[in-house]
Amino acid sequence: MSGFPKLTLAAAVIGILVSFGARARTPQEPYQHLPIPDQLPKGVSFDDAKRLQALVDDYKLQEPLVVRKIRDNIYFARGGTGRNVPNVGFVVGKTGVILVDNKNSQEAEKEVLAEIAKVTSKPVNATIVLHSEHESGITALPAALTVVAQENAKKEMEVSTARDAVPKDRFPTKTIAKDETMNIDGVRVRLLHWASAYTSGDMIAYFPAQKVVFASDLVVTDFPLASTVVDRAANGSVGGWIENVKGMLALNADTYVSGHGDLFTKNDVRTKLAFVQDKWDKVKLMVAQGKSLDEIRAALDNSGERRPSTTENIYTELAAKVGE
Ligand SMILES: [Zn+2]
Repeated sequence: MSGFPKLTLAAAVIGILVSFGARARTPQEPYQHLPIPDQLPKGVSFDDAKRLQALVDDYKLQEPLVVRKIRDNIYFARGGTGRNVPNVGFVVGKTGVILVDNKNSQEAEKEVLAEIAKVTSKPVNATIVLHSEHESGITALPAALTVVAQENAKKEMEVSTARDAVPKDRFPTKTIAKDETMNIDGVRVRLLHWASAYTSGDMIAYFPAQKVVFASDLVVTDFPLASTVVDRAANGSVGGWIENVKGMLALNADTYVSGHGDLFTKNDVRTKLAFVQDKWDKVKLMVAQGKSLDEIRAALDNSGERRPSTTENIYTELAAKVGE
């Protein structure tokens, strides 16, 4: 019998690796439920911080699929079968449905398709890919599909060797550079990219008539208040993240759909930016004071935070700038 628990453990580990893909981060529980710090960034009230903390506390690694109507013809699909299943959205157009981002497995994507079928009999004929990672659910969609992505995301998808890589027949069919307004199936959507943030090819989907932004992993709840997800292997950047978030805050929107977790208001996004910007400024000051990375991490990192932490990422970016 002694071999049995070992086998079970190995199966569990393999299961986790399969569901997360090669590049994805390792889940550490609990990592997100951290207290609000004593010192708040400038312009952030305790209520603002409490609201953001509540969003972080609400994050679940596993949760069943729930579909909610956000506004008019725009829906939000949170959770689903798997672990750390990303949020997606869908918009009912004139003749078909536009899926905004994709789930991280075919199974989870199929669950969304079943929910779409309850809302409309129109087929999904377009998808907007908001970054190159964990888009494998796209394989559940028909092959002759319009796939829109940022041009860097397309490049990343084409060379990806990750376990959850997207097959050739689902590669983007249309790309944008920085800012393009499209009319997809009678739905007006503005797609924007400012800089590398989570990856080099992040973009957001802004529906101006509905004042809704799909921010994907540029806004997440599975990280502490002053941290965010950056994949340095895909040229991610905290400085670029700040640029993107400032850009999306300048839009006339009031609802921001996060990549993981619940919806954000504009003020929630502003609070998140203030926390990360505050950390950026503090790291910068400590670097100027000649402090070591260990000293900076000891001062600014939460214990148990995923590595490399946002502090480390900021430090690396600032060091690269000094070396330029
Ligand atoms: Zn994600």
